[in-house]
Amino acid sequence: MASHTPILPPAMLGILGGGQLGRMFTVAAKTMGYRVTVLDPDGNAPAAEFADVHLRAAYNDHAALKELAETCAAITTEFENVNADSMRWLAQHVPVSPSGDCLAIAQDRIQEKAWIRKAGLATAPYLALETVEDLNHDLAPYLPGILKTARLGYDGKGQVRVATAVEARAAYADLGGQPCVLEKMLPLACEVSAIVTRSNPHEVAVFPVAENRHAKGILDVSIVPAQVDAALAAQAQQMARQLAEALDYIGVLAVEFFVLDGGELVINEIAPRPHNSGHYTIDACVTSQYEQQVRAMCGLHPGRTDLLSPVVMVNLLGDVWQDDGGEPNWAVLMQAPNAHLHLYGKREARPGRKMGHYCVLADTAAAALEQAEALKDTLG
Ligand code: ADP
Ligand code: MG
Repeated sequence: MASHTPILPPAMLGILGGGQLGRMFTVAAKTMGYRVTVLDPDGNAPAAEFADVHLRAAYNDHAALKELAETCAAITTEFENVNADSMRWLAQHVPVSPSGDCLAIAQDRIQEKAWIRKAGLATAPYLALETVEDLNHDLAPYLPGILKTARLGYDGKGQVRVATAVEARAAYADLGGQPCVLEKMLPLACEVSAIVTRSNPHEVAVFPVAENRHAKGILDVSIVPAQVDAALAAQAQQMARQLAEALDYIGVLAVEFFVLDGGELVINEIAPRPHNSGHYTIDACVTSQYEQQVRAMCGLHPGRTDLLSPVVMVNLLGDVWQDDGGEPNWAVLMQAPNAHLHLYGKREARPGRKMGHYCVLADTAAAALEQAEALKDTLG
């Protein structure tokens, strides 16, 4: 159900998913005077301690969806693997963003890549493997490559690097014969992301481009402004905008890019929600990506995206916690006037689990990076 009448505080906003993204959304919405209902089956969901209402039920629980539809003025999600049909059902009763159709595209690498190409934008060379028969194609143009499951992959999970056709066939079988894409391994100069907000009615704002460094397949640091050519950063922003338009997307859309050795930009993947690489916007932008999510779902104009200071965001994984679960040593970080700690309130620290992040603001991105790395050494 589309609405062009802005939704104003103290309306109740609903969100599917109560992880750290839902938590930061909830804080932003509450700050603006909205009320928030979170749907999440986890009793300890990070968003729950800030939400007005926590519906503890599955994402396809009909009674819970009905309650959301009846009590909320607009609904969004922080969790891309929410059943697109849940969003489509909700959309019959209340404004929903992003749409179930956009969620379905972002959930499936085969559809995602097809839509990126349809929008006139570049992806890595890839072959869609819908069934085992598709392995009979000539695989050479995609090798050496990465076989990725079409669905439910994240943080490098559901991916196998393959050098030969024999390895690709074996990996496809190992992944259970499910739909996959075989993507050519590209020589990367670096990786960047651009986060675009498109509201209803169709106003668009793009955040400054972040440069993202990963460790073990998980985002480690984001550096803003990205240490790339200004024209290339502007091109990434333009590509993100073009994709949001092509999808008729409403909400916050994160677009991840590969910067190739030759300087070309190709789109790696998208996320239909605020993104880990946009956490920096809370501390370093006029408007945060979470406030943008609120604004987009409420039919308000996106806020200004100006960067107030160069910034580096560092993810804090459970690995930084002590073996007995004891807290890292926060003392030095907490004393730094230009460092900002964000913890997600998760009770159990597990290796690879995103427990929090911090941002360091400095006169240059290089200075912020140096200090951010030095602070990390003080935690252990
Ligand atoms: P996830 O959904 O797990 O984030 P991605 O498709 O983004 O999966 O892949 C994770 C990381 O693996 C990327 O950020 C990049 O570092 C590397 N990678 C993925 N695909 C390619 C590729 N085609 N060429 C080179 N590196 C790649
Ligand atoms: Mg990725």
